[in-house]
Amino acid sequence: MAGRGNNSPAIGIDLGTTYSCVAVWKHNRVEIIPNDQGNRTTPSSVAFADSERIIGDGAKNQVALNPANTIFGAKRLIGRRFSDSKVQQDIKLLPFKVIKGSSGTPKIVVTYKGQEKFLAEEISAMILGKMKETAEAYLGKVVKYAVITVPAYFDDSQPRATKRAGTIAGLDVIRMIDEPTAAAVAYGLDNKSDIVGKKNVLVFDLGGGTFDVSVMTIDKRGVLEVKAVAGDTHLGGDDFDNRMVDHCAMEFKRRCDKDLTGNQQAMGRLRFTSDKAKWILSYANRTSIELDGLYEGIDFSMKFTRAKFEDLNMGSFNKCIDILETCLNDANMKKSCVDQVILVGGSTRIPKVQHMVQEFFDGRELCNSVNPDEAVAYGAAVIAAKVKCGDILLDA
Ligand code: ADP
Ligand code: MG
Repeated sequence: MAGRGNNSPAIGIDLGTTYSCVAVWKHNRVEIIPNDQGNRTTPSSVAFADSERIIGDGAKNQVALNPANTIFGAKRLIGRRFSDSKVQQDIKLLPFKVIKGSSGTPKIVVTYKGQEKFLAEEISAMILGKMKETAEAYLGKVVKYAVITVPAYFDDSQPRATKRAGTIAGLDVIRMIDEPTAAAVAYGLDNKSDIVGKKNVLVFDLGGGTFDVSVMTIDKRGVLEVKAVAGDTHLGGDDFDNRMVDHCAMEFKRRCDKDLTGNQQAMGRLRFTSDKAKWILSYANRTSIELDGLYEGIDFSMKFTRAKFEDLNMGSFNKCIDILETCLNDANMKKSCVDQVILVGGSTRIPKVQHMVQEFFDGRELCNSVNPDEAVAYGAAVIAAKVKCGDILLDA
């Protein structure tokens, strides 16, 4: 690895289904790199508008105006065949067009400079390119090397396609690593010298569109191994947003006897505002949703409490706990044998989710000192620095 000991930094990228995050080892610690909007995570969305291409926050912000040309969730398609039953299920839910490409791979169709078709990895490359640019603006130099993370359940072709996306983005991908391993590294679990025998780690990752649980072991050399994975590919923050939107739409109907659910722009504005309100409810007990001229010129204003939010989503939260139990059963492990529980994914910022996981593990302390939506990129940055410098951590 000494050959990589040149001046070009190595970054860690968590390429998420809904949000991505980039981090770097600098000043003897990991720094999460904010994007040009000042945000520490960037929506994994790409929008095509006439001759303009928008990546990240700008793309997500205009989705209500241009749903057919705003691409998100490319990670659901990457490295899969068009005939894959998962792809077939997913494309039914996507607001943009996906067709079968000549070699049997899915192709995303957008109206851009006429019309264009993109492979999922080409869309992912645009997002990776944005993360690379974000890092370059922050570090003030060209970034060449990257560690990119992928879910533990990805088979061979998905990481390979993700790596190709990195290459298209102009990155030299020095390592692909699975997300739960990166999260464990963020907590330094790979370099504990005090491990006697094996340690068991559970990673609970509730993100924007997906839920993943992994049971891992760490041996005394610090080698991490994923033992069992379980999850739901359609369970996460998007569902919580949708429930808030539905609730508001119902309230609007009750008050004004008007159905706004068919109006894309009103629904889009409601979704945007609900997402923000959801974040506030992770630290405050109440908030309000205020939208001027939401539908047919009628203003909408409504109080939203944390209790109401929890009530609307309790079914999903319970489902997470059921899946957690399944994963432990699959790994043949009693919950009392789990040494560390790591919370990952933006949706684990929700206090009720934290309480329920903690309660399940009989009140044990959870690893949540690293921001959950940054933990995977954090671990990836540590690994990137180590791989580049042959296990010695050097500044980027
Ligand atoms: P991904 O699932 O793509 O890996 P993340 O782990 O970043 O992405 O999770 C994104 C989800 O986390 C989004 O649904 C977002 O709304 C949600 N989220 C982020 N911050 C908070 C918060 N403070 N409270 C509740 N949900 C949040
Ligand atoms: Mg994630």
